[in-house]
Amino acid sequence: MRIILLGPPGVGKGTQARFIAQRYGIPQISTGDMLRAAVRAGSAIGLEARRYMDAGALVPDGVIIELVRDRVREPDCGAGFLLDGFPRTVPQAQAMAAAAIRVDLVVEFWLAREELLERSSGRLVHPASGRTYHVRFSPPRVPGKDNITGEDLVRRADDESEAATKRLEVYDLHAVPLAYYYAGLRASGGQDAPRYLRMSADGAVDSVRDKLFKVLDARRVAATG
Ligand code: AMP
Repeated sequence: MRIILLGPPGVGKGTQARFIAQRYGIPQISTGDMLRAAVRAGSAIGLEARRYMDAGALVPDGVIIELVRDRVREPDCGAGFLLDGFPRTVPQAQAMAAAAIRVDLVVEFWLAREELLERSSGRLVHPASGRTYHVRFSPPRVPGKDNITGEDLVRRADDESEAATKRLEVYDLHAVPLAYYYAGLRASGGQDAPRYLRMSADGAVDSVRDKLFKVLDARRVAATG
C-alpha cells in the first residue's frame, strides 16, 4: 500500500501516520522528521533547510525531492510506504511521477483554522523519535517527559505563533493546486492515478484513526480481492 497523507500543519498527520505505519507494516516517511534530523545532525541539507523551517516557509523542492527519491528506493519500502508531508507542491508531485514513484491513495485531512492553531500551539515533541503529544488532547504521562524514554519534550520552533500562522498560509497557497493536480490525473484516466480523498480530522485522535482505518481496510481488500 502506497499512501500520501496531506493536510495543514497541526491537523494531526504525524500522529495518524504512525498508526497507519504500525497497522499496515509500512514505513512512515515524514519529510519534516527527515529535515529535523538533518538539522540536528548539522549536515549541509540541515543547515540549508533550517532557515526555511524556522520561518515557516517551504524548503526548496530540489532538496526535498532528492531526499524522498532516495528514501523510497530503500528495501523497507518494497511493500509500500506512507508519505507524511510530501508532496507539498505540484512540482514535488510531478517529480514523483517523473521518477515513476507510484501511489495508490492520497488522503487529505482538513480542519477549521482556529482548531489547527490550537492543536499546534499545544504540541510537544520528543526530538529523537518524532513522537508527538498535546498538552490537552494527548498529554504525556509525566508532564514534559516522553512516555517511552522519559527524555524531555520540546516545543517545535515553527509552532510559535508567527511561524505557525505563516505555515498555514503556505499550506493554503499550495493545497488547492495540488488537489487539482491529482483530480486532473484521475480525470485523464491514467491507470496509475491515485485516488484522492478528503477527510475531516475533527474529533478525538482515536475516532479519526478508526475512520481512516475503515477507509484503508476497504481499499486493501479491494486491491487484493
Ligand atoms: P512538518 O513536520 O511536515 O510540519 O514540516 C516541517 C517543515 O519542514 C515545513 O514547515 C517545511 O519548512 C519543511 N518541509 C517538510 N516537508 C516539506 C516538503 N515536502 N516540502 C518543502 N518543505 C517541507
